[in-house]
Amino acid sequence: MTRLARFQERLAPLAGAALVTSGQNQFYLSEFDYDDGYLLILPDAAYLLADFRYIEAAKKSAAQGFTVLRPAGGMNDAVKELLQKHGVDTLLLEEGNVTLLQHTRLSAALEGVKLVAGATKLFTDLRLYKDEREIAAIAAAQELTDAAFTHILGYIREGVREIDVALELEHFMRKNGATGIAFETIAVSGTASSLPHGVPRDRVLEKGFLTMDFGARYGGYCSDMTRTVVVGRADADMKHLYRTVLTAQRAALDAAKGGMGCRALDKVARDIIDGAGYKGCFGHSLGHGVGIDIHESPRLSPSAPEDAMLTPGHVVTVEPGIYIEGKYGCRIEDMIAVERDGSIRNFTKSTKELLEL
Ligand code: ZN
Ligand code: ZN
Repeated sequence: MTRLARFQERLAPLAGAALVTSGQNQFYLSEFDYDDGYLLILPDAAYLLADFRYIEAAKKSAAQGFTVLRPAGGMNDAVKELLQKHGVDTLLLEEGNVTLLQHTRLSAALEGVKLVAGATKLFTDLRLYKDEREIAAIAAAQELTDAAFTHILGYIREGVREIDVALELEHFMRKNGATGIAFETIAVSGTASSLPHGVPRDRVLEKGFLTMDFGARYGGYCSDMTRTVVVGRADADMKHLYRTVLTAQRAALDAAKGGMGCRALDKVARDIIDGAGYKGCFGHSLGHGVGIDIHESPRLSPSAPEDAMLTPGHVVTVEPGIYIEGKYGCRIEDMIAVERDGSIRNFTKSTKELLEL
């Protein structure tokens, strides 16, 4: 079953049509990446509305099942005509994406059509389960990311700045086939490594921990990994901290399987970190879903819904960390998929041994 067919099946009981306005969800259904247009999906029809800039490419690359149209007038007028043609009076919107301004304009243009929320939830539910082609794109993105890590180990030396490290990672991934980066690269050293989402500085690497959190975009999909290495030598406290993070991460990876609760998996790692004397130092959740967006459902966190569990098709990160304010921090992150039989596939191949560079 195609992604479009699955969406249409779920749409039918909710509304006569859905208007897809976010680039991510447009790409998810049509496999075509563009701006300033709409997808209009009915249970038995699918339209891709694009302007002159995209029309030729859209006709070539849009997924099967789409009728590609270039409206002569405004996009909203074209939607109105199509809804009238099909006799639709209820339109499902992306509640997480439509702005107040867009809503006002749509209400005015589509007089007599009831606009209802619910498409964002529908997409979130569908996008939880990656199909084989999505998994292949994610695996390819992670392969580039692993290769970039190997490359950067040979690049890191005295006098290099944090921004040099970040740029070198990005440059390597782009040069080797990534279509972009999955998110802003993090490369923070020394005292700045205590900031889980610190921004690379125009400053030479401090001695101590260097945390690199980065990912590639490939075929529209993201990868996400973190490795922490040591610039110079690690003292006993740093070794203890690193070992604790690694033990927590390995325990969570071992416990992960289909049917495992998202909250319970977070607890596996959290208990190890708390029990090793770092209570309160692991201030974020264990992991998150990855796909077209870098942060998707499900969340592996203490506040995950009680009944949320890992299920075949899910792709999530496992990324415990310990951060000591004003001193340093460390995080180790892999990305895994739950296979059809409930077992785990780890996409991330880079070493996790403590490296002193
Ligand atoms: Zn990350
Ligand atoms: Zn992550």
